[in-house]
Parts: sequence; C-alpha cells; structure tokens
Amino acid sequence: MAVMSSTLQAAAGRRRTDTRLWHPFAKMSDVREHEFVLTRGEDVWVWDDQGRRYYDGTASLWYANVGHGRREIAEAIARQLEQLEAYSIFNDLTNRPARELAARLSALAPMPDARVIMTSGGADSIDTAAKLARQYWHVMGHGERMHLISRTCSYHGTHGFGTSLAGIPGNREGWGPLHPNVSVIQHDSLEALERELEVIGADHVAAFFCEPVIGAGGVHAPPPGYIEGVAEICRRTGVLMIIDSVICAFGRLGTWFGIERWGVEPDMITFAKGVTSGYLPLGGVMVSGRVAEPFWDRPDAPPLRHGPTYSGHPTCAAAALANLDILERENLIVRGQELEGALRAALEPLAQHPLVAEVRAGVGLLAAVELAPETIAHSAAAPLELFQRVREHGVLVRPLGGSVAISPPLTAQPEHFALIADAVARGLDELGDRAGASTERYDRAPMVRAEG
Ligand code: PLP
Repeated sequence: MAVMSSTLQAAAGRRRTDTRLWHPFAKMSDVREHEFVLTRGEDVWVWDDQGRRYYDGTASLWYANVGHGRREIAEAIARQLEQLEAYSIFNDLTNRPARELAARLSALAPMPDARVIMTSGGADSIDTAAKLARQYWHVMGHGERMHLISRTCSYHGTHGFGTSLAGIPGNREGWGPLHPNVSVIQHDSLEALERELEVIGADHVAAFFCEPVIGAGGVHAPPPGYIEGVAEICRRTGVLMIIDSVICAFGRLGTWFGIERWGVEPDMITFAKGVTSGYLPLGGVMVSGRVAEPFWDRPDAPPLRHGPTYSGHPTCAAAALANLDILERENLIVRGQELEGALRAALEPLAQHPLVAEVRAGVGLLAAVELAPETIAHSAAAPLELFQRVREHGVLVRPLGGSVAISPPLTAQPEHFALIADAVARGLDELGDRAGASTERYDRAPMVRAEG
C-alpha cells in the first residue's frame, strides 16, 4: 500500500486505483495511487479527467513548442500512416519524409554542409554524438582522443553516455561504474575547461558537451562570453564542440538551434523535443561537414555501426515536417526571444517572496524560481509541493531540484505570464502559511539573475 506524506497528499490528485505504470523520475510509493490524468490539449491549455483546465506552463517537458491539438500535424501523421507507416533506413533504404526532413534541417543548421542522423529522442542523440565523436577520432587515426567532458548541472538524458556525462549528481548515483574517460567541470567557468584540458591533455579529449542554456539542471544561462570562449578553446585544441540543444532548439531560445545567439559553429548539435513539438518521438544529431567527411567521402572508411531501429521513421519525420511548417508560417521561432523579457518581468516580483532565493530568466522562453535554502531545509519536498499547489491554481509548472521551472509553448501570449506568476505566488503563500514562515525577507533586495 502506498504511503504518502499528508502535506503532499493534500495537494496531490485524488486517490485512484493502484497503477501499473512506472513513471520516470517519480517516487512511485507516492504516485501509485495519486496519478494526475490528462485527457485533452488545445494550444496552451490542457484538461484533466475531471474536466478542469490548466495552463501548460512547461510545454509538457519543454517540447510542445507549437502548442497542443494541432490538427494539421495529426492529419500529416494520419496521411503518412496510411501510405507507409514505418520502414527501416538501414543500408540504402530511405523514405521521402526522412530525406526531406534531413535536407530541411541541414539547410537551417548553423554549420556548413550539415548531415543529419535521426534517432528516437534526446538521450539516443547524446549517445550517438558521444560515439560518433570517438569514432571520428578513431578513423582519423587518433584513437587516443577518447575523453569526454561535460558541465555541472547539465542534463544529457538517461542512456549510458548521458548518465556518465550527467552534471546533476543524483542522476549519476546507484548505477555502478559509469563510463571511464568522462569528466564534469564547473558549468560557468572557462578556466575550469582550460584546466581540465591541461590535466587530461587536450590531445586525449574527443569532445565537450554543452547546453546553450542549461535546462533540467535548473535553467542557467551561460555567463557573457562563455559560449564564444568554449568555441575558441575547442577550435584551438581540436576538441569537438557538441551543443546539446534538445531543449534550446526550435524556437525555445528564439532561433532554430538555439546556439545561433552566440554566433559560433559547433561540430555537432543534438536535438529532439521541439522538432516535432512532441507529436511523435524524434531526435537527432546535426553533424558538420568536417566530422562527416571521413565517413562520407573516403571509400576505405568503415560504415558507422550505429543507429536505432526507428532512425528515419517516416511517420515521425512527417510529424516533424508539419511542425516545421507551422513554426515557419506562424513565425514562432523568434517568439522565444521576443517573449523572454515579458516572462522575466512577470516572474521578477516572485524573487521578493520570503520562500524564494532567486528567479532565473531572461534568455529564451524558459525560467526557474529557486526556493530559498531555508525553504528546502524545512522540507526537501517543497518544490514538489509547490508544483502541486500551483496546479491547484490552474497552472502546470515543473519541480526541478530546488526550483520550479517554467517554459510555456511558443504560442504563449505575454498576458499569460501574469497568470503563471499569480499561481506560483499563491502556491508559495500556501507553502509559507503551512510552514509558518515569517515575511521578513520581503524587505530584502530581490534576486533576479538575468544571465547571458
Ligand atoms: N539533453 C537535454 C539537454 C535534455 O533536456 C534532455 C531531456 O530533457 C535530453 C538530452 C534527453 O532527451 P530524452 O528525454 O528525449 O531522451
């Protein structure tokens, strides 16, 4: 029988029959009889099975960029299902939607002559990029370049390499030995990268993994000059620069791949989520012409013995093509940048709440409200409880470490942000009432970090 703390129970969904569905990242002893069932979505709104409407303040898991319920994507999927639902692209096999999608993404990519490897999601893409980086150096006659470097707070999915590259400590624990030849450095320090390259020896390093704005690790934009500095160091040392834009691409930062905001040219970009706005699972790796060259142009190079079953899945590709049509036609890509100021302005006042340490926002349509250390010390479950209380006020946010994250669809309107801020403020007040928190800290200067 599931046992759940009474405070969480008060804010959680009503009791249901014990589920058989194992939820990702969930404490199943809490969730098993308290699932929250969603049944319908339309643009920025979703409905639960009681008919209650909620504002989707997180675009589900940072992916519903064009919003929910787009008939055009559903119809594109249905048409493709009727024609050729699925077929492998191994060897010389291919299909029209996958070819067209690759051509379209390549033309949009911020690197010359990009090729596209398609996968089923973000973690697939990270493992593909890690293996390709090592294989690239192997075929180039530098098999000693094996080491991979990532950053604290980073999240690169839950597969083998992604877990080893994880910068969120909890995500690394309990799995036994992770990949050797991987290190994690301070996320906002170019000196830390230089130092690590010296310690390992740059000529033993295959690649550096970098989210433009760190997402799941708490929404941290890079300090000014950081991304440009990484590009310079990678160029100077030959280390491949792999940009993980699984969250940041397809408009989240106001450009196609997020990284264009810093004017640098990565060797690879991993993507997923917004490429289909989640209508079907699809991810991939954009590979620069330089990295692709030995595999594409040298007749003696071995085939890349890698690729998931559903690489180039025609129906997923058809969903992506319809999604790209909407992003282009409705000019949604730039929204991530156009709306970032309004989102920050709406959330800024929350930094003065006694339970809040800081608000991080300002680069792209994503933000985090970080709870004060005392709030977390009082109850480690405070972010989860806040998320549940905010939901009671009709807005879905996301518990993320010591914070709640906000990343609405690109179809959001500025006036929606007041709705989000108001629901979070009410949730915070309720948390405070329960904890008997003093309101003294209302008097202190607000902490709003506008990074980037
Ligand atoms: N990389 C980043 C930056 C992510 O945020 C995520 C997921 O949130 C992933 C990789 C993994 O993607 P997926 O969950 O589709 O495997």
